[in-house]
This record gives sequence, structure tokens and C-alpha cells, in this order.
Amino acid sequence: MKTITVNDRPYTVPDHPVVVITVDGGDPRYFHDALDRGTMPRLRRMLDNGGEFGIGRSEIPSLTNPNNISIVTGVSPALHGIPGNYCRLPDGSLELLNDPKYLRAPSIHAAFAAQEVPTLTVTTKDKLRLLLGHGGVPSVSVERAAGSALPRYGVSDVEQLVGAAAPDVYDPLASHYAMRIGLAALRHAPDLRLLYVSLTDRVQHASAPGEELSDLFLTEFDTLLGEYLDTGCTVAITADHGMNAKHDEHGDPRVHYLMDVLTERRVPVDEVVLPITDPYVRHHGALGGFAWLHLAPEHRTAAREVLAALPGIEEIWDRADAATSYELPADRIGDLAVTASASTALGRTAADHDLSQLHGKLRSHGSRHEQFVPLILNRPVRGPLAARFAAGTLRNRDIHDLALNHLGSFG
Ligand code: ZN
Ligand code: ZN
Repeated sequence: MKTITVNDRPYTVPDHPVVVITVDGGDPRYFHDALDRGTMPRLRRMLDNGGEFGIGRSEIPSLTNPNNISIVTGVSPALHGIPGNYCRLPDGSLELLNDPKYLRAPSIHAAFAAQEVPTLTVTTKDKLRLLLGHGGVPSVSVERAAGSALPRYGVSDVEQLVGAAAPDVYDPLASHYAMRIGLAALRHAPDLRLLYVSLTDRVQHASAPGEELSDLFLTEFDTLLGEYLDTGCTVAITADHGMNAKHDEHGDPRVHYLMDVLTERRVPVDEVVLPITDPYVRHHGALGGFAWLHLAPEHRTAAREVLAALPGIEEIWDRADAATSYELPADRIGDLAVTASASTALGRTAADHDLSQLHGKLRSHGSRHEQFVPLILNRPVRGPLAARFAAGTLRNRDIHDLALNHLGSFG
């Protein structure tokens, strides 16, 4: 069996297609609720026939870009270089981290592609496509599916391959189209060996487990999961992060605007960076459970004291401690890292956030409380990772190791 080592971790090249699906915002509670109510019969049958459902953890901050890149590289943000969707760089510029020039580690897919192993990455949000496609990996997004091709697989028109026009990226069911692209590619190119499908958390930002939109999403997800299973591929499912309601009993967002709070207390701050910031503000209004503060050394103690006194502020770390405890690249984070409780969001100034654009009541992520993610596999976990899988101490960045190296035969 051939093995390819990527970022010091060995991965077995499979003799059949292996599919890893990242359900954006796919908090384990969505799946538990659906299984309890019997609304995901294919997932239930898969688990009854030797599949596994474990719990793992995401990177902190629990955001999309750091976790998708951890999942495809198998290593932490300290090594791959992407600590948020957005950050302030050492030169003071504020940047969306969507450009491959920020990557410091190759993906498993890029290493496989370099050795002629057929790979494909499919994303819903186009913001991830360049990162996931870096290093010669064929890649496509739902957002830009119209008019795109996959020359590696002789596909001149992705919409034609799927047999349907791509929906808008804010369409609640856009994620299903990403799954359909992956399925169509599997059927079209049987030599495909490693497929990555990354969804969008449009539904999870708007809908709690058991609510109508969530049920609609998961029901169709389950049908498509069944179609994947019927192709005979190995299927692994995880999430980039979970999701929590961050509003009060009246449905109003529960937010601390950190720049406003500190300015009022006369603590000078150079910048408050919200690493959840991305082009899809209608999902979350750029409000999440994590913030970086950039400020002069002489003001940090005062800032800590002011913030620590606010209800719902949980952790305040300086740069070095945040880099160590969250495994982040020290040059791309703030002087202070601030996290909030499950039901509290952090903003910059009240004027910066247009909450009228939100799809509904604020549900978001970024803190430690959205760190729990599912690790779901269609075959039993065997060997040295089995104990850690059962104990819940694996990460979403271990999902390719699990899927390629540690699965037993079908039950
Ligand atoms: Zn996400
Ligand atoms: Zn999100």
C-alpha cells in the first residue's frame, strides 16, 4: 500500500474513493436531534451497519477558514498559517485570509495531486476555493459553478455535469448542490480517490436543531448521503465548528462592542479585529464569540480589567499564551485574544454592524462553546486512534487520518 507523508503525517492512498464532507456549522446537536427523531434514516442505517459517530473538537477560534484548512492539511493554524477568516498583519493591514499566499503548509490533496492521485475539492462559498485548490488541486465552488470546468476530469461545464443550474450562495439549500457536484464527479470519474466537499452554514446560522429549515436541510443531506454510500465510497463527515444562539429572551443580539466599551473607559485601542469577518455578513453580521485586540503594551492591563468585568467574557490571553494554548501563528493574531460565553457575541463598534441584514435571530460561533464537532464515519475506527476517538479527544484535523489510515472493513 502506498503512503504519502504530508506535514509529517502519513496518509495511505486508498484503492477506492474516499469522501470527506465538512458540514459548515454542523454542530453535533443537529445530528443527535435528527437521529433521535428518526429524520435521517440513511445515517441511522449507516451507524447500525458498523459506522461510527464520535465527537471531536475544532480549532479555536471556531471559524470556517482556520478549520477547513486544518481539516485539509491535518495540522493546526500555528503550522498552516490561517488563524481566522480575517486578521491584522504585522504591517497593520487588515486582510481576509482567502488567498493561498497566506498558506504555510500544503494540503493533503495537493500532496496527493502532486503524486498523480486524483483529487477534487468542492466548496459552497467561493471564498474557500482558492485556498482548497492551491497546489494544483482541481476545485470548484457552487457560488461560481456557472461556466466553470474541471479539465482534469474532462468536464467542460460543471452545471451540465450536475444536470441542474447552481443556486445562489445565500440559497438555504446551496450546500446540497455542493454535495451533488461531488456525487456527479464520483460517477463521472471512477478513478477519483480523495474528494473533499465543504458546505455553508447559511442554515445553521438561521435555524436551531429541530426547526423547520434545519429539518429541510438535514433531510436532503441524508438522501444525498445515501447516494454517496450507494456508490461504495468511504464517507467521513465532520464540521468546521458548531453553532449557538447569541441573543436574549426577546430575540435581540447579546453583544459587547469592545471598541465602544474600551473607548468609554478611556482605554486606547488601535484595532478590534473580529476574525469571523468574511464576505457573507448576512449570515452573522460579523458577530461571533472571539475577538483580537491590538493595543500598546501600557494599555493592556487596563483593557484586561475592563473586559474581565463584563458579563459573558470568558478568556483573555496575551499574544504568546493565545498562540500556545490555541495553536495559532503568533504573527497573525492580536495582542490580546478575547472569548465570550455560549450566548454572548463580540463586536467592534455598534455602528460597524448592520444587524438589519441578518437572516433571523443571531446564531453564531467563534468561541470555545462551538468547538464540538461530529466525527462520523461509515466504517468502524480501528487501531491506535480508536481509544482517542472513543474518548472524544481527536480533532476535526484528524478526519483524513481516520478516513485513510484507521478504518476497518464494513460491518
Ligand atoms: Zn463555518
Ligand atoms: Zn458561520
